[in-house]
Amino acid sequence: MNPNEKQEAQLWQHLPDGRILCELCSHFCMISEGKKGLCKERQNIEGVLYSLNYGRLIAAHVDPIEKKPLYHFLPGSQSFSIASPGCNLRCAWCQNWGISQANERNDPSRLKYVSPEEVFKHVLRSKAKSIAYTYTEPTVFFEYTLQLSKMARAEGIKNVYVSNGFMSEQMLDLYLPWLDAANIDIKAFDDVVYRKYSGARLQAVLDNCKRLKDAGVWLEVTTLLVPGVNDDDNQIQGLANFIVEQLGEETPWHLSRYFPQAQFSQIEATPIKTVHHAMAIGKAAGLKYIYAGNMSGGADTYCPSCEAVLVLRDRIFLQGNHLVNGKCPHCESKIAGVW
Ligand code: SF4
Repeated sequence: MNPNEKQEAQLWQHLPDGRILCELCSHFCMISEGKKGLCKERQNIEGVLYSLNYGRLIAAHVDPIEKKPLYHFLPGSQSFSIASPGCNLRCAWCQNWGISQANERNDPSRLKYVSPEEVFKHVLRSKAKSIAYTYTEPTVFFEYTLQLSKMARAEGIKNVYVSNGFMSEQMLDLYLPWLDAANIDIKAFDDVVYRKYSGARLQAVLDNCKRLKDAGVWLEVTTLLVPGVNDDDNQIQGLANFIVEQLGEETPWHLSRYFPQAQFSQIEATPIKTVHHAMAIGKAAGLKYIYAGNMSGGADTYCPSCEAVLVLRDRIFLQGNHLVNGKCPHCESKIAGVW
């Protein structure tokens, strides 16, 4: 593609009234001529929907896979991590607000175009075992992730989505064959909280988690505990039960501390005891692997059968891996994951 050209989007159709229906995420925006969707990264230009952020990267780093966080997927490996600007949600406490929300600084037209082929050369040079589409919302740069994912698959490199899970079913139908692992951020277990603070809907996210699981994608779940918003026992219990019953008791759950952000600074950081309390609820519900995030401790993996320490971590850094062929070396229990 010529860097000055625009990339036509996938997953859209004309409506009888002349607008365009974008089918990429569960907002299903109906976009009039000249207008953009809620994410501000897709525009109806003369009756065609274009992806405005295709190939416009705002971040590219080589990270430990544990940073995603994925603790049961190729531990200790490097993941080539990229982002284009944009998000389909507006979470008040977003930790990456500066690059996830459309603004003048990250206007895609001001970012240099980098072709998938060019990025992939860097991926190969980095020796990373996976490409992570992360930092912002990969759904809103889907076309680019699809292109790169096909190149990765051909070279035996895995594809990872770190996502809010609000994509459409149509998008997953297209993309699931290329996706190896995902961390989905389930932000609350209350639809009112979802609508009020992020503009999304809980059920769509839960349904997509089930689709990922059913398709055999390795799935881990993250919840950022925001005091007074999503940390009450009802929500924690409900979410733990959902994971156990619908995704499986072996699904790792990361419970992370929130710290005040520019857009949401009126609430204090999550007390450590809140994280421990939520972890206890998850454990009592039957979850086998629960981790604390954004704090010291709570990042090691224990054997659910004999309680031996299996994988040691200092926050996102691997300190030791005692697994033998994905099994506990003491009692030989199989540990769920991609090792
Ligand atoms: S990706 Fe979602 S938010 Fe963006 S235009 Fe399409 S439906 Fe709207």
